[in-house]
Amino acid sequence: MSKETYSFQTEVGRLLDIVAGSLYSNREIFLRELISNASDACDKLRHMALTVPSLIEGDGEFKIELAADAKAGTLTITDNGVGMNHDDLLDTLGTIAKSGTGAFIEQLGKDGKADTNLIGQFGVGFYSAFMVADRVEVTTRKAGEAESWLWISDGKGQFTVEQASGDAARAGRGTAVVLHMKKDAKEFLEETRIRHIVKTYSDHIAFPVKMGDDALNEGSAIWTRPAKDVTAEQYKEFYHHSAHAFDEPWLTLHNRAEGMVSYTNLLFVPSHRPFDLFDPERKSHVKLYVNRVFITENAEGLLPTYLRFLRGVVDSEDLSLNISREMLQHDPKLAKIKSGLVKKVLGELKKKSEKAPDEYATFWDNFGAVLKEGLVDDFAMQEKLLEVCRFATTGADAPTALAGYVERMKDGQDAIYYITGEDPALVARSPHLEGFKAKGVEVLLLTDPVDEFWMQHITKFQDKPFKSITRGAADLDKVAGDANKDENEKKDDAPNLDALIAAFKLELGEGVKDVRPSKRLTESPVCLIADDGDMDVNLERLLRRHGQMTHAMPRVLELNPDHAIVTKLARRASDNADDAVLKDAAHLLLDQARIADGEAPQDPAEFARRLASVMERAL
Ligand code: ADP
Ligand code: MG
Repeated sequence: MSKETYSFQTEVGRLLDIVAGSLYSNREIFLRELISNASDACDKLRHMALTVPSLIEGDGEFKIELAADAKAGTLTITDNGVGMNHDDLLDTLGTIAKSGTGAFIEQLGKDGKADTNLIGQFGVGFYSAFMVADRVEVTTRKAGEAESWLWISDGKGQFTVEQASGDAARAGRGTAVVLHMKKDAKEFLEETRIRHIVKTYSDHIAFPVKMGDDALNEGSAIWTRPAKDVTAEQYKEFYHHSAHAFDEPWLTLHNRAEGMVSYTNLLFVPSHRPFDLFDPERKSHVKLYVNRVFITENAEGLLPTYLRFLRGVVDSEDLSLNISREMLQHDPKLAKIKSGLVKKVLGELKKKSEKAPDEYATFWDNFGAVLKEGLVDDFAMQEKLLEVCRFATTGADAPTALAGYVERMKDGQDAIYYITGEDPALVARSPHLEGFKAKGVEVLLLTDPVDEFWMQHITKFQDKPFKSITRGAADLDKVAGDANKDENEKKDDAPNLDALIAAFKLELGEGVKDVRPSKRLTESPVCLIADDGDMDVNLERLLRRHGQMTHAMPRVLELNPDHAIVTKLARRASDNADDAVLKDAAHLLLDQARIADGEAPQDPAEFARRLASVMERAL
């Protein structure tokens, strides 16, 4: 086959322009990226050889070699990993397959000051070679195939692919990346500099990285070393490498579990929220190894989806190496590992939440909504999950633990009160809260969509039932109020609302389920609640939005017996049940309650007409 010339995919071209054109503070990371690719290639082949041992071709000693040639101005990174054939080259070096890359390029290019640490995260590490090289040659032979291939580019829009023959062909399988260093990048040819870079970024790589006969790195998988021998810096580098992350790990869990099934885990909780956390396609980022052989990055059944923010590796010698990935999912040993990991992670989160509540608040902000999915998905862990959940509350500025809420409950209070909604600011000002605030009774403010769903599954915490304040009767009479906010005022001359309620019911008909006096309002004249046993208002709203419900259910309209509007209307209703004002008032107050809940009036035109007519009469 003769030499073929291709253009880079547009995105790669843009990326290369940015990479070549901007100034970097730490160009040295190119070496980390190329060593990481070499290591991935070795991992891949080792895994493939499990089923096709002949691919090893008698060379089972995986290694990565570095060679600097000062005269020629080249640095060569060679591996005896899986290698690439003609089609692999076209698929991988020249295009960017990963989603989200466009967003990355935008971010990189924004101010011309690219953050090179981002490069590996987005799976475009190979192209970082062009930060230091003005010509890159890749010679490669795929394990099990005869032909070698040569890929060449100067990173300026095009690359060529040709078959490599004679001296140019690779004897062994695998890949050699030859970098022709830029004039201003000759420093990376110095041995001491190279040693230092490898030690800094690639020490954790599980294969020896050699220069001459010398191994520059530890060469053993980091998780197989005793935790006391690993520094925070080494953990961090490994986290960056294995998770394509660039932040600090918020939490590092390095443990060995021995028992029916033994395994080692080195897991990280990121300190930032990954951009694709809520992407339904998002795969796990925890890699599964069996006895140090990489098996898969997407081991379904290794961790529950509500822990999908975890990164790192799990390695077990008790799983079978020769089992297919599909079979693995159903291996009861994997289920054992899973439950062990879940317990460990939740236990550590609990410790952290108690020891460092401020740091925990950051974690919760990032991943709380994801963790709460477990309340729905993982029945067995509900209790443990609830312990590490935090909720916004009317009782404190910072999110509270449920245990804290229960401790602060008032004498006579027998439920954990909550309100759900979508907009935190709106929910915090909801009229439903008035009576609770007046009594100093704390209410949890739940504004994650998932809150609606776990509330369907969980009824109690420490034997205290959860109770929505927008559903059912609110009876705060039994609760001892705050001494200074007592409710000794009025009440005695409270008017009889019977006539008013009868008139409203008649006028509103099917539009409401009931009309009754309220015990939860102090300032607003009215509010809407769901009747006991009916669906909570916010849940209904969510279901309607997703087309799972077409009709709104009628609500109960509650009237504040102490509000001037209500008392005056009550008097008019007692005097004359046919008073025309009562009709307009019924509709206006119902719409007012809807508006306070963030909804539109039932019939906006009719609402406007009535409002105008009432105002006209008042003026
Ligand atoms: P990532 O490593 O995140 O996939 P890179 O840009 O670093 O992204 O590499 C792109 C792809 O090129 C790799 O996924 C791999 O398929 C291929 N590749 C790069 N270097 C090698 C190598 N040394 N051996 C085999 N394949 C490689
Ligand atoms: Mg890479």
